[in-house]
Amino acid sequence: MNRQFDFLMPSVNFFGPGVIEKIGDRAKMLGMHKVLVVTQDNLAAIDNGPVKQTLASLEKAGVDYAVFTGVEPNPKIRNIKAGKKMYEDEGCDSIITVGGGSAHDCGKGIGIILTNGDDITKLAGIETLKNPLPPLMAVNTTAGTGSELTRHAVITNEKDHLKFVVVSWRNIPLVSFNDPMLMLDVPQSVTAATGCDAFVQAIEPYVSVDHNPITDSQCKEAIQLIQTALPEAVANGHNIEARTKMVEAEMLAGMAFNNANLGYVHAMAHQLGGQYDAPHGVCCALLLTTR
Ligand SMILES: [Zn+2]
Repeated sequence: MNRQFDFLMPSVNFFGPGVIEKIGDRAKMLGMHKVLVVTQDNLAAIDNGPVKQTLASLEKAGVDYAVFTGVEPNPKIRNIKAGKKMYEDEGCDSIITVGGGSAHDCGKGIGIILTNGDDITKLAGIETLKNPLPPLMAVNTTAGTGSELTRHAVITNEKDHLKFVVVSWRNIPLVSFNDPMLMLDVPQSVTAATGCDAFVQAIEPYVSVDHNPITDSQCKEAIQLIQTALPEAVANGHNIEARTKMVEAEMLAGMAFNNANLGYVHAMAHQLGGQYDAPHGVCCALLLTTR
């Protein structure tokens, strides 16, 4: 191969059991004074769950926060508008997303309309963002969409049931946290669906015209990991080794498609997801197995 390519990913990525404890210090290091934590209400309610652990670390570091729990699956324009209002009302200066792809995409959407204008539908497309988002970190709880690593913000326009994507290097979180301990209690159905999404995200960049030697090696490793780790993670959610391998695979696939892009399964999955509000991973699994 004799051509140029660029390779984008967050500048810092924490990986492994227990890394969530580092988020408070990292927030302080980044100069975050009051963070809008963007998440879903069911995740925020879990005792000692991912949100509570994030908040505990922020408190320990002396970083203030407000918690926005209005993220819906397939985040809608109304969600990002409500999040923006809370960010402004609470005087926040930064964002931390906690969850799977919906939370990360919603947090990116909030950041986008805070600094690039209120009508996000006008920003659909590639590299449309003129201004940087507020400082944003992502705590990932599924393996997974890869959104904690990527430049994609997938938002649903609830008025016409269409998903659109804002693709920009400005959307990439400054720091990602991938802690498999946060994923041990993810339900079987969600583990299976999000794992199928990661599997498709490892295959599509491999056959993409935009592939490069780095993304090829990431895809091959991710596909191999998922083949053995996904069935085990679904059968036994508390198998830390299987969860850890799925996080590795999900990150590799995320990095790969962030740079080599995706294909027809995702093009069609977004139509199904927008029309029927169906989980993204289920749409990917359905299309992957449909001949
Ligand atoms: Zn996907």
